Amino acid sequence: MGFTLTDNQENADVILFNTCAIRENAENKAFGNIGWVKNLKKTNENLFIILCGCMTEQNTIIDKIKSKYGFIDLVFGTHSIHKFPKYFYETILNKNENQKKSGKNYIKETEDIITEDFPAVRNNNLKAFLPIMYGCNNFCSYCIVPYVRGRERSRNSAEIISEFKKLLENGYKDITLLGQNVNSYGKGLEENINFPKLLKKLDGFEGEYTIRFMTSHPKDATNELFDVISKSNHIAHHIHLPVQCGSNKILKEMNRKYTKESYLKIIDYAKSKIPDIVFTSDIIVGFPGETYEDFLETTDLLKKVKFASLFTFIYSPREGTPAAKLLDPISKHEKTAWLLELLKIQEEISENLHKEMIGESLKVLAESFLPETNELLCRTSGNILVEVKGKKDNIGKFLNVLITNSKKESLKGKII
Ligand code: SF4
Repeated sequence: MGFTLTDNQENADVILFNTCAIRENAENKAFGNIGWVKNLKKTNENLFIILCGCMTEQNTIIDKIKSKYGFIDLVFGTHSIHKFPKYFYETILNKNENQKKSGKNYIKETEDIITEDFPAVRNNNLKAFLPIMYGCNNFCSYCIVPYVRGRERSRNSAEIISEFKKLLENGYKDITLLGQNVNSYGKGLEENINFPKLLKKLDGFEGEYTIRFMTSHPKDATNELFDVISKSNHIAHHIHLPVQCGSNKILKEMNRKYTKESYLKIIDYAKSKIPDIVFTSDIIVGFPGETYEDFLETTDLLKKVKFASLFTFIYSPREGTPAAKLLDPISKHEKTAWLLELLKIQEEISENLHKEMIGESLKVLAESFLPETNELLCRTSGNILVEVKGKKDNIGKFLNVLITNSKKESLKGKII
């Protein structure tokens, strides 16, 4: 439409906020930032402020925008993203034709469709994200995603394979397949396909590249998945498998449909097939009704699995989810203390895991260069960062390195 990018919001004629509904904190941050740019409208009357993303799929948010953020010109959700140019054009026309009418445009569409040939601008020329499915059917009791992103729907494998092939042809070396629950990929498609079968197809191209994927729901992480990874040439030896909690009572309340024992069984099977597999996970601390004893089940699980790293969160209620209605007697103060305890345990686990890797020879992808130290930042198949002395022109190459030292968050190595 003739617009170009600017680094300076004061020069902008259009400011578009892409939002996330997962945590309340992210929503508050979005509103804070939007409130700040309101002032820019005073000096630039042609400025359009646009809000999109899954936060806007909630009626309560639309009501809040209408009452307090009426200066936003266009609001649309994830279901309408492919129509953004159309809605933006209409907003411009409305504003030009009748300034008093304001041109406000609040779009609410709920149809669960898949749009192919969607143009993508990628900021990195080595690493790419490739969506393979959208939506979620799991309805974990704390999660807003199924309400804002709609039901699960998978892209046809032919479309994914063709896009994947183009990425390889364009020099991408590290491609992450995306979906709320990639392990249920293929359900509802006419073709006979599931996630392991898709991975197998994507693994079959020539050349050096890495396939990653996220996120995996443990209830759908099958033996077939790990069998395929173990026999593959390109699939990363890393799985992000969010466990959320180690207490069976809380897992049931969360509607996660697995137990601590069944989760550990998956981990054991994966380790038996792929001895160097790296696990990472998400943990929610302080779910309503969680006791300290429940929390200790989680720390016990961490010690058993030995995750390389974790995304940890204090439970945040999301309006409209079943968990938001549960009584939550534990104070924020207490939950914070539990979280700190958990982080300390995890820090030790990560540190030890990294230490155990000293002396190993690994293939890594050189991703970027630090001129101050003449170091390359590289990534292992297990998604761990390795710093090695090297030249900038190694960026984009797979290198063999010997791990010589370790830190809490990363490794040190040398090219061999
Ligand atoms: S599987 Fe993930 S996205 Fe789906 S409801 Fe559960 S937490 Fe939310």
